[in-house]
Amino acid sequence: MALNPPPLKLYDSAGLALNNIHEFVKEQGYAVSVFRSKTDKQVPPAVRKMWLRCAKGNDYTKTARKRLTSSRMTGCPFTLTLTRTAIGWQVEVQDPTHNHQAFAHTRALPHYRQRTEETKKTIADMSASSINPSKILTNLLKKDITISIQDIYNERQANKKKLLGRLSSVQALLKALNEHGGDDPESKYYFAHKEDDRDRVKYLFFTHPESLKYFQKNPDVLLINCTYKTNKFKMPFLHAVGVSNTGQNFKLAYCFLPGETEADYNFAIQQIYLLYCRYNVTPKVVITDKESALKNALRTYFPSVPQLLCLWHVAKNVLTHVQDN
Ligand SMILES: [Zn+2]
Repeated sequence: MALNPPPLKLYDSAGLALNNIHEFVKEQGYAVSVFRSKTDKQVPPAVRKMWLRCAKGNDYTKTARKRLTSSRMTGCPFTLTLTRTAIGWQVEVQDPTHNHQAFAHTRALPHYRQRTEETKKTIADMSASSINPSKILTNLLKKDITISIQDIYNERQANKKKLLGRLSSVQALLKALNEHGGDDPESKYYFAHKEDDRDRVKYLFFTHPESLKYFQKNPDVLLINCTYKTNKFKMPFLHAVGVSNTGQNFKLAYCFLPGETEADYNFAIQQIYLLYCRYNVTPKVVITDKESALKNALRTYFPSVPQLLCLWHVAKNVLTHVQDN
């Protein structure tokens, strides 16, 4: 029986191409799997080219050489590529030869047991550890699992939906904070939020229980700074950072703000002030950049605490002025 290669066709999508190839080669009595892929440097990364090989083939890496001794592998040279072109996905056969007979039961091949519970769990676990989809793809392909980057995106989207239920991401966050929040500083989040007249979250302040433990013992130095472009709502994100007695920084609290007016800063600084009151401690110094709205808010809640400028910002200012002159 000739193990014919799949037709050198052009397909509209990679998924369609892979489905057709799998169906075709199954009829021929062999199986193929993607063993390598190349992605574009765009966001989200899109696959540009895939290399497929026969289920009896393998690459000659260290781990693969070990597997070659198993009865499943014959080092079959059959390989083909799937390339994205301007007009579609092109199939090309690099080596049409096989060094084995057709299999009687191609369905039983591991390559057709795609997206098992185990694969799904791997995707969920790796996603939970903030591993990006292209790294997950590489990981699964190395395990001989036939999967595309789109499958991984779909799986992640399904997991996210399951996790959120019918809530929006902000509603889900508030629900989680409510479940994990409370007065016990040993195990509970401290958080506060405020909505606008259309019930949209305007301010959200939160601290991790572990941060609160550090804070009680190290309340002296308080650093405050805002970062931008951290979220899709384009809200400035305020960080309050403490310094431990060994000189290390720790994250004290975070606050999403609608803007950077004095009223906005007042909300965040009031919450920080309440934290100081809660543990009956006071800061000895506050360090900020030269943001006057922030400095005013600090003067309101911590009138007697000296404010210093962050050394990094001072150095940056010196440089700017030196360059100007
Ligand atoms: Zn083969």
